[in-house]
Amino acid sequence: MSSASAMNRRQALVSGAAGISLATTTSQQLLAQDSELQEPEPFELNYLLGSCMYGYSDLAEILPEIAKVGGSGIDLWPKVHGNQREQVAEMGEAAFAALLRKNQTSLECITQYKLGPFGLQEEFGFAKRMGCKTIVTGATGPRGLTGAALKTAVGQFIEKMKPHLAAAEESGVSIAIENHGNNLIESIDSMQWLMELRPSENLKIALAPYHLPQDSVILSDLIRSLGNSIAIFYAWQYGMGCMEKLPKSRELLQLPGRGRLNFVPLLTALKDVKFSGWTEIFMHPVPRGLPILDSTAAVTAEINRSRSYLSTCLKSIDEVSNSRNTTNTGTPGGEAKMTDDKKQTQKIIFDDYNKLNQREAYVILNQGTEPAGPGGYTMTKDPGTYICRQCNAQLYRADDKFESHCGWPSFDDEIEGAVLRRVDTDGYRVEIVCSNCKGHLGHVFEGERMTAKNTRHCVNSISMKFIKKGQELPAKIVKKKE
Ligand SMILES: [Zn+2]
Repeated sequence: MSSASAMNRRQALVSGAAGISLATTTSQQLLAQDSELQEPEPFELNYLLGSCMYGYSDLAEILPEIAKVGGSGIDLWPKVHGNQREQVAEMGEAAFAALLRKNQTSLECITQYKLGPFGLQEEFGFAKRMGCKTIVTGATGPRGLTGAALKTAVGQFIEKMKPHLAAAEESGVSIAIENHGNNLIESIDSMQWLMELRPSENLKIALAPYHLPQDSVILSDLIRSLGNSIAIFYAWQYGMGCMEKLPKSRELLQLPGRGRLNFVPLLTALKDVKFSGWTEIFMHPVPRGLPILDSTAAVTAEINRSRSYLSTCLKSIDEVSNSRNTTNTGTPGGEAKMTDDKKQTQKIIFDDYNKLNQREAYVILNQGTEPAGPGGYTMTKDPGTYICRQCNAQLYRADDKFESHCGWPSFDDEIEGAVLRRVDTDGYRVEIVCSNCKGHLGHVFEGERMTAKNTRHCVNSISMKFIKKGQELPAKIVKKKE
């Protein structure tokens, strides 16, 4: 904990020194100091909506979606991916500003690949007038270089950028260079050189994991090294690529929670560097210029699906850091402190876990899933408590059970501290396990709006045992030390 927080502090200071203004830096430092004395401040992603996710749809139709995806602003894309920049040119800046006001949102980014890093003068003016602080573009220069040759080429690119960076500074705009395949700024080394050699903090990175090795560890190390020089984090993975026409289900694998990239390490790194830039849930459809799904509502729902996955990842990160920071409750003394009236008192014994039969072991020890259906506890409605089959720990109250019609027992809340969440080996679902014995319970889903708590623990009946209200709970088993 101490070395990790020292690391965070150092990185916060480094990124603070590279920050936007002295006032911001100071308050961030004060917050960082406070957070070591009190509760750590919650880390949240600041979402930006890419207009091209809706293809060539009208801005009047897209802007209301920003609030629905928890976004704070729009990233305006031109043709061929979208045409919203052209729409603004046609309607005029005053009309666009009025449209933004009407939807209580703002222009936060302009993406301009075609203009390139040396052709942004007019966009600086537009950005300044609209209060927009970020323009994304690509680099230019030789490709496929490594080592000293790469460093030299990046240095030459930066030299050429200097007058443009001066103009950007004057307009209060940052130029964020996106890493892109077949480009000077393509590799991890090239990004690190770009940030190391940059003469101005108005030169930043738009980080696209899509174009990098699909390895969570490599990507999270990169995020740590770039820190807050990342202006935009595209929550975007390779999936099966975006260059050839694929069935929609495969095309969508570019999105977080759909494809195989585990975003937990990436988000952990973003949290560690106290990332304060934008997060844009992103993918490219084939062909470009179409909405990623048929209707505006479907696009928004798909973005929210990814957002729900990312939020579950962040929760699992909190779970891990909380369980590291609190002492294990597997002692009688620890248990006695549980005065929460939601949890019945329960004796503790130190012993071997309950023996499991073959079917139980398949689910509980091997992450199996029992068939869906009305059997087991799916339809049980009696008052009482559901405990862990393997260790008897209390898991769920009958009060939190609801009828989800999914074929497995469903709860919208767990007994406090009873359940740990972790990203499933499939890389996108969130697995739930008993926090005492780590036996597999099932999966948790958020954002389905089935109950007010918007959470569904989908639990295998076989992982639990139901104890009716009034019956004595068997003692919770804490494993003997070997
Ligand atoms: Zn258990």
